[in-house]
Amino acid sequence: MAGALATAVPMWMFELDQEPDAKVREATAAEWCGDAVLLMTRDKAVLQTGGEGPQDAPEAFNRLAKGVAALSYAPGGFTFLGVLFCARHCRAGRPPSGGLTYCQQCLSEKAGMYRPQGRG
Ligand SMILES: [Zn+2]
Repeated sequence: MAGALATAVPMWMFELDQEPDAKVREATAAEWCGDAVLLMTRDKAVLQTGGEGPQDAPEAFNRLAKGVAALSYAPGGFTFLGVLFCARHCRAGRPPSGGLTYCQQCLSEKAGMYRPQGRG
């Protein structure tokens, strides 16, 4: 599934990026996150059994991919099934490095933002 997510997640990131209205984009991302949580809690049977209808499994996969895509915009990205997705630095996903589950590039940039004045 991780390999398929590496294809689907960037596609859903692109979909979010295409929304010009930031409020609509944020609402869509929130909806996708909430729907992924419902899938993994209330509707998790479809993940275990593949569902009953032919569209159940593909729909569940896309709900999951949308949630991962939305969460990848968080600072540090989002790691799921051993793959780190960061909307800013690794859209196609990659294994987290150094045993860390977040994007180190995000952390480096954030540390730079808080660097006190006068220091290199
Ligand atoms: Zn990052």
